Amino acid sequence: MLKIAFIAHDRKKEEIVNFVTAYENVFMPHQLYSTGTTGTRIMEQTQLKIHRFMSGPLGGDQQIGAMVAENEMDLIIFLRDPLMAQPHEPDIIALLRLCDVQGIPVATNVATAELLVKAVERGDFAWRELVHKYKPGLE
Ligand code: PGA
Repeated sequence: MLKIAFIAHDRKKEEIVNFVTAYENVFMPHQLYSTGTTGTRIMEQTQLKIHRFMSGPLGGDQQIGAMVAENEMDLIIFLRDPLMAQPHEPDIIALLRLCDVQGIPVATNVATAELLVKAVERGDFAWRELVHKYKPGLE
């Protein structure tokens, strides 16, 4: 079971809802997380159960980032709005930076998200189970 997070900026919410709905069966067996509003929107349209963190501008990206820092998160689908400045830009950059620190796959547009979801379907992320199994616990 993978831990997968969804985040979408406001003008990308419809896109993420459509995307997750299309692959609902692929996401179903996994442990799902999201920022606040994104998760609400997805849960309204699907049967998926999603652990929702704070809304992005209120710290949700940072909360997901904390899981990435602990190497807990396996995959992030983060549909960013490239045409609109965000008040929490520093948090977004911090999250993407942490993904690079830990080598966590993160899709920032739906084309990449599609490739990652196909990889999940194929079982390409099975190695992450080993990461979880052998990750040292918190001291
Ligand atoms: P939201 O946060 O899902 O609560 O809207 C996402 C964001 O805008 O960063």
